Amino acid sequence: MIDVKNLRFSYKKGRETLHGLTFAVDDGEIFGFLGPNGSGKSTTQKILTGILGGYCGEALLFGQKPDAHPMDFRSQIGVLFEFPYLYTNLSALDNLNYFASFYPAGRRRNAAELLEMLEFKKDFLRKPVSSYSKGMRQRVSMARALIHNPRLLFLDEPTSGLDPSGAVLFRKIIEEERRKGTTVFLTTHNMLDADLLCDRVAFIADGEINALDTPQKLKEQKNSNMAEVTYLYENKRCTVSVELSRLSRVFPFPHDKIISIHTKEPTLEDIFIQYTGKGLIS
Ligand code: ADP
Ligand code: MG
Repeated sequence: MIDVKNLRFSYKKGRETLHGLTFAVDDGEIFGFLGPNGSGKSTTQKILTGILGGYCGEALLFGQKPDAHPMDFRSQIGVLFEFPYLYTNLSALDNLNYFASFYPAGRRRNAAELLEMLEFKKDFLRKPVSSYSKGMRQRVSMARALIHNPRLLFLDEPTSGLDPSGAVLFRKIIEEERRKGTTVFLTTHNMLDADLLCDRVAFIADGEINALDTPQKLKEQKNSNMAEVTYLYENKRCTVSVELSRLSRVFPFPHDKIISIHTKEPTLEDIFIQYTGKGLIS
């Protein structure tokens, strides 16, 4: 679906932003592109969606170059941009009906139904976008990305500006898209979104991919295989770290009562830091 080989890009001569990215996204998968601010996530998405040209290396979507076949190509992809591209003097419905008019009638989804699915406040449907909160604009942007039933969805930080229940709703909608067979390229620095949604994730830092695998495999590779055991002994509460293999028969220390055992599984963010030496939020 997406094939990227040795992708390089510079905004300014002599200062390279992307230093040769190579990855492929399979049909129907949710592919997470995970990295701290300024690492090159949005730049990559802009190249893949045909907004930025002048790159080196190869980028193919459905076997086509994104900047070479704009019209045919655009009807197959849906894009949620880093910053909402909406007409602020128009309402949510007018924006969506306008964007929908670029696509064949048979592909268009109903704007009001989409907004209802996105739990958009009904009394704002006909008010101008300029009066909307960030979360409401994000909902309209998501509706815009979905309005023509794209085969391939690019989402740049989709849950930014949403409260926790909005983020849960967006994750549910992204999962529904996957069930329909839509391929999703999800750009994020939110490791919870990535861990819960993605089939595979690529870690990008300073314009380079440092690791690429399923979230589970990435976490297992760096798993410490340790458990934290809290217990009572002679009326004192103690906590020790013990290798899991040593817990298979008996607890290897004197104790009166075991209170809890927690395996110390790393989070995706722990793994990211181990691979890149950086946190996801900088
Ligand atoms: P991310 O989306 O991972 O936060 P970006 O792709 O937006 O990162 O940016 C990667 C790098 O390119 C950053 O150093 C950023 O400052 C720089 N950059 C982004 N957009 C432009 C631009 N239009 N002109 C010059 N530099 C840019
Ligand atoms: Mg970005």
